[in-house]
Amino acid sequence: PKGTISILGLGAMGSAIAARLRDTGYTTTVWNRTTAKTAPHAAAGSTAAATITEAVQASDIIVAVLLDHASIHANLEPAAADLKGKVLVNLTTTTPNEAKTTATWAAEHGITYLDGAIMAIPEMIGGPAARLLYSGDENAYAIARPALETLGTAEYEGTDPGRASLKDMALLTAMYSMFNGYFQAAAMMRTVGVSAEATAQEVIAYNGALLPHIAHYAALIEHRDYSAGQSVDFTRTAVGSLITAAREQGVSADALEPLARRLDELTATGRSTADWISVIEQLTIK
Ligand code: NDP
Repeated sequence: PKGTISILGLGAMGSAIAARLRDTGYTTTVWNRTTAKTAPHAAAGSTAAATITEAVQASDIIVAVLLDHASIHANLEPAAADLKGKVLVNLTTTTPNEAKTTATWAAEHGITYLDGAIMAIPEMIGGPAARLLYSGDENAYAIARPALETLGTAEYEGTDPGRASLKDMALLTAMYSMFNGYFQAAAMMRTVGVSAEATAQEVIAYNGALLPHIAHYAALIEHRDYSAGQSVDFTRTAVGSLITAAREQGVSADALEPLARRLDELTATGRSTADWISVIEQLTIK
């Protein structure tokens, strides 16, 4: 056996993680609020713990995969004394500030804390496409790393415990915006009977070709070089037309209105000739 790991939480993700750790040779103990979910894991060779305390006492590394920040604190705080001196890897999705709060709480109780963010769905766990981001205590990462590397590609983002989740949330923000853009396009095209599939193929081709252009924008944003490029004025007209066209089809233009507002702000403050990508400067809440 490679080592002892307890997995707290056997939802879709916790189950996939427990199975992978067990299959790769770790001695696993599992706990779940709804006890029945431990049965298939016990049948497959894990030890089922009746209480969280029992689960924590059984292993050196504790992996928590609960629902959210509140469920982590509700369940782990009563077990703080038992967690003392152990490595706690929290893979539950939380915001960066929540991760920092949990790290502070852990430090106060002598718990070595690593925060994680899972960039994968349960089916991907254990495969090369699964990326898991970690941040927090370096020693916790060093200790847990061999086990964490069995779950997918492990990437350590530094000692700031909130960093992994910040990156996760930034990437998810870009992802949701992309899909939302497709929903908007499909809603417009289906007003004339074009299928969602047909629009999907068009969006994949058009947006797919443009996606690498992000790197070009990145270089300009990095140098805050907004002197050339497509102007605010031009883009404001273009986006205005998109909003009008959506409404003409009886489709909401909510997806684009915030961008139109940012462009209006730039115009109102005398920056109508600047590169439109300067909208990024309008995003920071002052
Ligand atoms: P599920 O809904 O399948 O499972 C939720 C788990 O949390 C269950 O074990 C549930 O226990 C437990 N739980 C919920 N509330 C409480 C509570 N108050 N006290 C104790 N246990 C509680 O979710 P997933 O497994 O899919 O997700 C788990 C975490 O992983 C989430 O933070 C999610 O954001 C993250 N994640 C999930 C991904 C996915 O694709 N599924 C992708 C990336 C991250 P019970 O069985 O008793 O209800």
